[in-house]
Amino acid sequence: MNLILLGPPGAGKGTQSQLIAEKSGIPQLSTGDMLRAAVHAASPVGLKAKQIMADGGLVPDEVVIGIISDRISQPDCARGFILDGFPRTLPQASALDRLLTSKGKRLDAVIELKVDDTALADRIEKRARETLASGGKVRADDNAEALKTRLMAYYRETAPLLGYYYAHGLLQTVNGMAPINAVTGRIDEILAGCQVS
Ligand code: AMP
Repeated sequence: MNLILLGPPGAGKGTQSQLIAEKSGIPQLSTGDMLRAAVHAASPVGLKAKQIMADGGLVPDEVVIGIISDRISQPDCARGFILDGFPRTLPQASALDRLLTSKGKRLDAVIELKVDDTALADRIEKRARETLASGGKVRADDNAEALKTRLMAYYRETAPLLGYYYAHGLLQTVNGMAPINAVTGRIDEILAGCQVS
């Protein structure tokens, strides 16, 4: 099963893709997590991405395409993967199509988590509070200023992918304002109805 979760920052892509990964045993591939690990390790990719991410901008396409290309070639992706945060631009979506075609694979579904803009700031603030309360380190981009930039990047660069995947007959939209378990239930129904590869 090769799946994409799409939605603005704070829509619940990470939470839902982790749940699907636990149930299905196929890996969640979060480019955000991979980039944060690269920043932490101060690798060349991390050094390039650090400030862009803190500001809420998008890391250059060629960087994230390279990361995903390497990652989906790993043995644990042989049965499929759940993409969380990739693709985020049309060039990334085209690169993914080419990568999958070259491996004889295809996408099974693209699930959009639709959430009201007004709820996103509250969700991001809540995530920051909960991280602090559990003794964790708050993400550099989980603040009001970076969220504005992240939302603008979403609407300018990522929202066009909804049309792209709709045109490919792959888009399914889920109400991301529903309680977490209701969203999970709806995603399970969609996946059960998919002809998985
Ligand atoms: P996320 O954890 O998905 O919210 O991603 C955090 C940040 O990582 C984003 O705001 C971007 O700066 C960067 N990032 C993650 N995935 C991508 C991507 N596919 N393309 C460009 N930048 C990305």
